[in-house]
Amino acid sequence: MGDNIRVVLVTGASRGIGRACVEALAQPQTKIYVNDVANLEQAAQTCDLAAAKGAEAEVLPFNVAEAGEVNAAVEAILKASGRLDVLVNNAGIARDNLIALMKEEDWDRVLAVNLKGAFNCLKAACRPMMKQRGGRIINISSVVAYMGNPGQANYAASKAGLVGLTKAAARELASRQITVNAVAPGFIATDMTANLSEKVRAEMMAQIPLARFGTPEDVAAAVAFLASEAAGYITGEVIHINGGLIMA
Ligand code: NAP
Repeated sequence: MGDNIRVVLVTGASRGIGRACVEALAQPQTKIYVNDVANLEQAAQTCDLAAAKGAEAEVLPFNVAEAGEVNAAVEAILKASGRLDVLVNNAGIARDNLIALMKEEDWDRVLAVNLKGAFNCLKAACRPMMKQRGGRIINISSVVAYMGNPGQANYAASKAGLVGLTKAAARELASRQITVNAVAPGFIATDMTANLSEKVRAEMMAQIPLARFGTPEDVAAAVAFLASEAAGYITGEVIHINGGLIMA
């Protein structure tokens, strides 16, 4: 595979924001690895959407929380494609409960997938990017990292942790022309938010100046920008995509 092919890995891309990121990054001369753990059929559908835009796409199943699986997957990418240009750390879960009721395993699981998962992927991806002297890493944080949310202590802590990880990695990797940024989405209509009650939805909507929930495409557009050549002088930054819910 020639140097002019751009190689991309998007984690958690069977649906929602991850799928929209794949679609936004899909273009000719691009190979996209579509990661997922459980919904491989849906991940294959994400590949079809990328192929319709002229990209080559392939499902790459692995659990981001397992460093061994992540390392093996990145090795497989390097063996098949010879390089890795863009990593989007999107895989994430929520296990909500009030702190007094939160099970230790739900704290551990959310931190393991959302924060350690991103670290595992970043660590594996930065090695080939350092050799290439270039790369783009984009982490998906959340507005709750900045404003908190009752019932989401584990999730908010993981997403705030991602902001620190983004900034530390940006400083470490800048000398190799690797940029590391984050996006912090607000309330985005996906499976993750589908089960919220009407009451909670109405309360949230009342706080959003643009008076609508976001779409996965709203988030993917910012991710595609951060992955582009045009964003080459932006690193360690967080782009807020929340309809004005907070103005940081
Ligand atoms: P979603 O619809 O629930 O999709 C989550 C994706 O992550 C799925 O593809 C899922 O795979 C994958 N995943 C979960 N655990 C994984 C693991 N251990 N290894 C690999 N993949 C894994 O969620 P979403 O709303 O699109 O959210 C995507 C990201 O945006 C998450 O990091 C989320 O925290 C963040 N975010 C979302 C919102 C929102 O309002 N929706 C707001 C702020 C931030 P399976 O299909 O196999 O389960």
